[in-house]
Amino acid sequence: MSTAARPAVFLDRDGTINVERDYLDDPSEVELIPGAAEAIRELNVAGFPVVVVTNQSGIARGMFDESRLAEITRRLDELLAARGAKILASYYCPHHPDYGGERYQRVCDCRKPGSGMLEQAAREHGLDLSASWIIGDSLRDLEAGAAVGAHGILVATGKGAEQYAAARARGEAPEDFAADLGAAVRLVLGRT
Ligand SMILES: [Mg+2]
Ligand SMILES: [Zn+2]
Repeated sequence: MSTAARPAVFLDRDGTINVERDYLDDPSEVELIPGAAEAIRELNVAGFPVVVVTNQSGIARGMFDESRLAEITRRLDELLAARGAKILASYYCPHHPDYGGERYQRVCDCRKPGSGMLEQAAREHGLDLSASWIIGDSLRDLEAGAAVGAHGILVATGKGAEQYAAARARGEAPEDFAADLGAAVRLVLGRT
């Protein structure tokens, strides 16, 4: 690759792009959070690569398999495409430290708050992680970004409001907290 590394916007999936379902295992249950597709389209227009990084320990837990996850990813891509929005690439961690047998039980570096998925995306797509952003509804998403110097924004959708309140009670509220993906994207675009 001859082009210089470029900044990306990493997005968590569940609770950030689509409605949190507690181990979403059925493509027919993929439902976009209002405004999410439009926000992704704004990032596309601004020229940001948009990369999804999602923990999917439901695989390790035996709740669904990787082919079912692929169907869910296709369904999400279709719903986004219908609104003119595009994800460059999606990465998932199927592991869990306590479940999953020989195939999936491990302490991996891809499960957020680990940063393995971001690092893999950077290698495969020529991304500058320290100039990148990560948006998610969990503090784990922000920790994964912080580990590689990316700037995090917590959204209030999904588990975000609860996560923010808990962090604030510990005196550790994240600096950037946005109502939803649309508001988070406005923060990103206002700063670049
Ligand atoms: Mg989430
Ligand atoms: Zn993993």
